[in-house]
Amino acid sequence: MNKIAVYPGSFDPITNGHVDIIKRSQRIFDELIILIAYNPVKKTLFSVEERIGMIREVIKDCRNVRVDYYDGLVVEYVKREGASVILRGLRALSDFEHEFQLALINRRLNREIETVFLMTGYKWFYTSSTIIKEAASLGGSVKGLVPEIVNQKMQQKYHPNEVAL
Ligand code: ADP
Repeated sequence: MNKIAVYPGSFDPITNGHVDIIKRSQRIFDELIILIAYNPVKKTLFSVEERIGMIREVIKDCRNVRVDYYDGLVVEYVKREGASVILRGLRALSDFEHEFQLALINRRLNREIETVFLMTGYKWFYTSSTIIKEAASLGGSVKGLVPEIVNQKMQQKYHPNEVAL
């Protein structure tokens, strides 16, 4: 039987920390779905279409990985796709409490689904979409922290007049 995992998040935008988790998960699961999950609390920089476009570009050479969007409960999506695992990445201690809460509520909502955590690669311990957006918005270079396509899109968003034609 195929082991399908769903990796939900905002991915606003996808960073090298996310990519690290995606690549490593390929050795564990047969299929991975990166799920842009609607979060009513978060205001995003990139539209769903923009985030999907960047992720598609980043995963174009990855086998058995695809991207999707869902505006309902993640556990419902996981069940609908015949998956049994929610994949999440863990960074610094600050992630722990929130991830614990999420995993527990998701287990309460559906006991058949397990949340699996992968520890971040040490290089990406402090890499978050939020901090990257902050740095880029103030003109800081985020090269090496995000895939090149994301670096370019961020430049276009924040500094459209400086982008070389
Ligand atoms: P959310 O809005 O659900 O927190 P994110 O896009 O910020 O979505 O993150 C999605 C998942 O990826 C979360 O499990 C998060 O902990 C993980 N993640 C984010 N950045 C990193 C990183 N640098 N290394 C490992 N995991 C990460």
